[in-house]
Amino acid sequence: MKILLHTCCGPCTVGTLKEIDREKHQVTAYWYNPNIHPYLEYQSRLDSLKTLTNTLGMDAIIDDEYGLKKFIGMLGTDLDNRCLKCYNDRLVQTARKAKELGFDAFSTTLLVSPYQQHDAIKLMATKIGEKLGIPFFYIDPRPHFREGNKEAREQGLYMQKYCGCVFSEEERYLGQKK
Ligand code: SF4
Repeated sequence: MKILLHTCCGPCTVGTLKEIDREKHQVTAYWYNPNIHPYLEYQSRLDSLKTLTNTLGMDAIIDDEYGLKKFIGMLGTDLDNRCLKCYNDRLVQTARKAKELGFDAFSTTLLVSPYQQHDAIKLMATKIGEKLGIPFFYIDPRPHFREGNKEAREQGLYMQKYCGCVFSEEERYLGQKK
């Protein structure tokens, strides 16, 4: 099966790939993350993903668009529910891209993180896949999260300190709750 794998960063990709049999499936990484700010952080995560896919000899499709204004505009004033909007934007874009380019299915590295809303992502992606006519390839790579991070650190990949948006950066350093 040809799978387009939305990738949020290098370390999460390392963990996620442990749950996908790359002998059986042809996996292409897909970068689309307008939620990552500020710009130097965005660039560090993207560079890390490029390093990883080069090392693995893995195909990658990069939509290199720093999306601070777009992201903030999409959230409006409803900051409490921002994560669901953030997931939706990235999953819809990935599903559309997968369909447009003739992939058999799409998936996401967001599924590896115990800090994300796994069940909400699963349900949302399944519905998006049904609506857009491209199957969602569900996996649960969470047991590989720590191991993936450890390996990524050993490989010298950039390790981020917060989820991605400016609001999560504030929470990380000021200790405020989402
Ligand atoms: S905390 Fe993470 S998932 Fe939630 S809106 Fe920010 S970048 Fe997106």
